[in-house]
Amino acid sequence: MLFDTHCHINFDDYAADRDAMLARAREMGVSQLVCIGMLPPGGREALALARANPGFVYASVGCHPYDAVHYNAQVEAEFRALLREPEVVLLGEMGLDTVKSPSPLPAQEAAFEQQLQLAGETGKPVCIHSREAFAICERVIRRVHPRGWKGFAHCFSDGPQEALAWKELGFKVSFAGQITFKNKSCDPIRAAAAALTPEDVVIETDAPFLAPQARRGRRNEPGFVRHTAEKLAEIWGLGVEEVARRTTATARAVLGL
Ligand SMILES: [Zn+2]
Repeated sequence: MLFDTHCHINFDDYAADRDAMLARAREMGVSQLVCIGMLPPGGREALALARANPGFVYASVGCHPYDAVHYNAQVEAEFRALLREPEVVLLGEMGLDTVKSPSPLPAQEAAFEQQLQLAGETGKPVCIHSREAFAICERVIRRVHPRGWKGFAHCFSDGPQEALAWKELGFKVSFAGQITFKNKSCDPIRAAAAALTPEDVVIETDAPFLAPQARRGRRNEPGFVRHTAEKLAEIWGLGVEEVARRTTATARAVLGL
């Protein structure tokens, strides 16, 4: 039982083989996944997939930092409506990206802060995208509410210090395919995993992006979350089934499933 806590299976990348791809994920041991919907149209697509695959696919909705300039009262009202649906278990992804977001940083910060407030009001866990932006993310999170957060530091790409800081803030650290990459630049991600336990960690693919080393450069899909579980098992000296079971329990506890 593997839990892919973050994938974009509503994307057109899967238009030709979505059902076959989901069947493969089940065969590879994926018991549940969250489809991350961006802005209200993406959220509605994620919700439709959740309804078509009950108990297997769940949905989120959020405003990605790239889309921050589009966040407004109308979008927030549509988020509120979607968050009332039982299949919508997560708010995000939201956050900050200093690498290549087309939305300027002040707009990103404003959209992030408003979504964190919405999470506080609705009691939903959050999925945070932080790309070379940990210090600013932490500042915004502490400004909105000092503690008690439930959620995931999605696609974690920093080192042990940041991983422990996420834990201290109340978040679970989510590892994706980069942990399997051969590049030296990914060593800090592995060191971060070594500093944590399966109770601090969830796993994800971010499919169709970030295919693991064995599939690098090709389309990613939820079944490949197994590669991340295998790498974590190696780092922790545990069996892969134990890693799957314990990180799935961590994800389910955060999402209230
Ligand atoms: Zn994503």
